[in-house]
Amino acid sequence: MRHVDLRSDTVTRPTPEMRQAMLQAEVGDDVFGEDPTVNQLQEMVAAMLGKEAALFVPSGTMGNQISINAHTRPGEEIIVERDSHIVNYECGASAMLAGVQLHIIDGQDGIMTMEQVAAAVRPRDVHQPQTRLVCLENTHNRAGGTIYPLEEIARISQFARERGLKLHLDGARLWNASVATGISLKNYAQYFDSVMLCFSKGLGAPVGSIVVGDREFIERAHYYRKAYGGGMRQVGILAAAAIHALEHHLERLADDHRRARKFAEAISHLPGIRIDLERVQTNIVMFDVDPQVMTADQLIDALRQKGVFMLNLGPRKIRAVTHLDVSDADIDYAIEAFRELLGH
Ligand SMILES: *Cc1c(COP(=O)(O)O)cnc(C)c1O
Repeated sequence: MRHVDLRSDTVTRPTPEMRQAMLQAEVGDDVFGEDPTVNQLQEMVAAMLGKEAALFVPSGTMGNQISINAHTRPGEEIIVERDSHIVNYECGASAMLAGVQLHIIDGQDGIMTMEQVAAAVRPRDVHQPQTRLVCLENTHNRAGGTIYPLEEIARISQFARERGLKLHLDGARLWNASVATGISLKNYAQYFDSVMLCFSKGLGAPVGSIVVGDREFIERAHYYRKAYGGGMRQVGILAAAAIHALEHHLERLADDHRRARKFAEAISHLPGIRIDLERVQTNIVMFDVDPQVMTADQLIDALRQKGVFMLNLGPRKIRAVTHLDVSDADIDYAIEAFRELLGH
C-alpha cells in the first residue's frame, strides 16, 4: 500500500544527495566559530535576506525565543497574534525564558493590521508594562499557510520604527511565501529587525533553523543560543544539509503549492467537506468535515486505513501539508481515497 504522509512538512527525510553533502561536509568546532560549513551557511542566508549576520540554531522555536530574549527585557510586553506559533506551540517559553508578557491580538487569518498593532501599544505609564516588540508570522501556519500582505508588513514596520518598537518575523515558511508571490526574501526582510527561517520544513533538511539581523542583534542572539543549550560543535554536518536544501529544494516549493491547490480543489466538491479555497495559498490545506457526515477523527482513521495520513486540529478541523516527499502520484492517490470515503 502507498504511504502518503500529509501530516506536516517536517516529516521529510534527507535525500541520498543531501546525505552525500552531509557526509562530505568540512567541519570544525562551531562554539569556537570554527565550523566552515556553518559559517558558509550563515553568510549565504544573511546575503539572501540582505542582513548583516545570521546564526544557525537547532530549531525554529529556539530561533524565535532567542530573538525575543535578545530584543526585550523581563517585564516588557510583546504584541503577537492569537493563532501564532509563538503563542500556541512554544511552551510559553517567552514567559519562561525571556520573562516577557504577551499582548495577544485577534488577527484575520493570522494577519494583524497596523491599526490593531497601534491600538495595542501601551502608553508610557508607571502602571503599565512597556511594549518593546511586535512579532508577525509569514506564512501563517494555523491560518493555513496564508501569506502576509507586503503592504501591511510595510505599514506595521513604519509604525514600529516611528514608535521605537522592534519587529520580528517568524518566517519558518518565509521561503514558501517568497516562492508563491515572487517577492524576494530581501524585500520581505527589509521591514524586520530579525527574521527566523526553518530548513526542516518544506526545504527537507533533517534539522535546523536560522536567525538573521544586524551584527549587534546576532551577537546578543548568540549569547542566548549558548544559554539555551543550543551551542553545537561539529554541526557543519547539519549546515551542509541546509545548504544543499537551499541549492536544490527552494524553487521546487512551487510544486508543493501546485499539489496542495490540486488536492484542495478536488476535495472541495465532495459532500461533507468545507474548505475556503482562497486560503489555500502555499503548501498547507485546512478544511472542516461536516460532523453530520463524519468527525475529523473518523475521517483521519479511515484515511489511515488507506495509507493516507493527516493531522487532527479539532473535532472538525483537519490539516494536510505537501512537501518534498509527496509526489503528484501521491496526491492523486490521496484524492482517490477521499472520493472513495465521501464520494457517495
Ligand atoms: C515549525 C514552526 C516553527 C518552529 O518549529 P520547530 O519545530 O521548533 O523547529 C516556528 N514557527 C512556525 C510558524 C512553524 O511552523
